[in-house]
Amino acid sequence: MNNKTDLIVIGAGPAGIQAAVSAAYFGVEVTLIDSCSLPGGQYYKQIPKEFNDEGHNSQHQKANFLFSELKKTSIQFLSNTTVWGIFHNLKSKLWQVAYIRDNHSSQLEAPHIIVATGAYDRSIAFPGWDLPGVMTAGAAQIMIKNQGILPGKKVLLSGSGPLQLATAANLADAGAQVIGVLECGTGLLRKGISHLPTVWGQWERMLEGFGYARSLIKSKVTYKLGWSVIRANGNHKVEEVVIAKIDEKGNPIKESCQSHEIDSLIVGFGLTPSTEFFRLINCKMKYSTAESIYVPERNEYCETSLAGIYAIGDCAGIGGAELAMLEAKIATNRIAWELGFLSKDQILHDSRNLKREQRFARMLAEVFTIPAGLYELADPDTIICRCEQVKLSEVKKAISYGAQSVTDIKNITRSGMGYCQGRTCGSILAHILATETGRTVEESQFLNIRPPVHPLFIERIEENSHSVVTQ
Ligand SMILES: Cc1cc2nc3c(=O)[nH]c(=O)nc-3n(C[C@H](O)[C@H](O)[C@H](O)COP(=O)(O)OP(=O)(O)OC[C@H]3O[C@@H](n4cnc5c(N)ncnc54)[C@H](O)[C@@H]3O)c2cc1C
Repeated sequence: MNNKTDLIVIGAGPAGIQAAVSAAYFGVEVTLIDSCSLPGGQYYKQIPKEFNDEGHNSQHQKANFLFSELKKTSIQFLSNTTVWGIFHNLKSKLWQVAYIRDNHSSQLEAPHIIVATGAYDRSIAFPGWDLPGVMTAGAAQIMIKNQGILPGKKVLLSGSGPLQLATAANLADAGAQVIGVLECGTGLLRKGISHLPTVWGQWERMLEGFGYARSLIKSKVTYKLGWSVIRANGNHKVEEVVIAKIDEKGNPIKESCQSHEIDSLIVGFGLTPSTEFFRLINCKMKYSTAESIYVPERNEYCETSLAGIYAIGDCAGIGGAELAMLEAKIATNRIAWELGFLSKDQILHDSRNLKREQRFARMLAEVFTIPAGLYELADPDTIICRCEQVKLSEVKKAISYGAQSVTDIKNITRSGMGYCQGRTCGSILAHILATETGRTVEESQFLNIRPPVHPLFIERIEENSHSVVTQ
């Protein structure tokens, strides 16, 4: 295989597919990479071929249109392929993407890289959050929609935002007994009213929301505003949850505590953008207050502070599939112009739709914020870094030794050094540090990162080490 191309797109969700298709349409030579076997990402995830001959997507006409466009083009699609590093080749002056496929590590170079790696579930740590039977909303959705498996028979959902409504509806429709949905966001009605003009015109989303509400009403599911799970109990798996009403700051009101028997707890505290690659190559990052996380700085064409590296879709900030696909078109227009396939006056400026989608994304982030008090539910023995089994007491000890940032905590305790590379514990550590030192989460900074970004056997890297050139 030729190891040079015009454009490499990492991630075949709505953003990545749209980017690859638009670029190929202009004549740009594109390689699209995804770790899954089928394109679609999270929202347009396809049911595995083993379940259905067509690899059909249960949810979206738009998705099926994108898939058929993808088939029509000459795009090279590398499925079951995980990118583990991006490097700058000082000799060729091109960006180099290192990936693992069929157990072999290879690399591909291009002047332009579009990173469209999406997002993953945001977690908070509370006693019992690591018990079997406690899982995130995204994981539960994958089990139901893509594997046809119910995560449990008697289920409670706790968290914030529309994703958990969708998950609760999916669970109820699939036959689970959903004993309740707890929304930790406080003052939702007040916040929601001030954002009414933003919701106006979003008919498709509203219809989707009404569909979920109808399913929940039909199944008589209780929806509690200003409540949260505070503890999960069980011997070898979750058997009981303790829930409580919370105040404006997210602190549980003791007198309101209730216990419920369940066999599955689904937690959905929103999503976290996958920013690993931007941190790896030292893109400038900026703090997003609404999402309480660092995201890459971008210009009007979605280009990061590093020339040739673009960030689109949820990995640059949670915005949903529509915004992701708009950003894809904007970025690829710019790249097509840079490669001489388009003149400057042909560059797309869909600023009206872009602003509408950005406003909607901001509204969701502002309405469904996680109150800080929920980050203080863990007790000294609660595991914070699940991969390295680091307890809250050890994290606090590291802070008492003088840790000033989440990276300091990582260096002292090994938190964030394990299989998930801090994807789960990173933001929890930032909140603990902020609480313990009286500083802001922004001041806790973000976890630094080293290749390989995703775990792989070291001999696979050695096979190719002669060709990987670091900055
Ligand atoms: C678990 C989950 C469930 C969701 N459910 C809903 C829902 O029900 N309704 C809704 O409106 N929105 C939902 N969303 C949000 C919605 O999916 C996103 O807003 C939308 O898909 C964004 O598209 P994207 O292309 O930016 O990212 P994604 O769709 O997340 O696609 C990213 C792709 O990048 C690939 N990837 C990541 N890292 C690598 C790597 N290193 N190497 C190779 N490939 C890589 C992934 O496999 C994935 O296919 C969900 C999000 C998540 C995370």
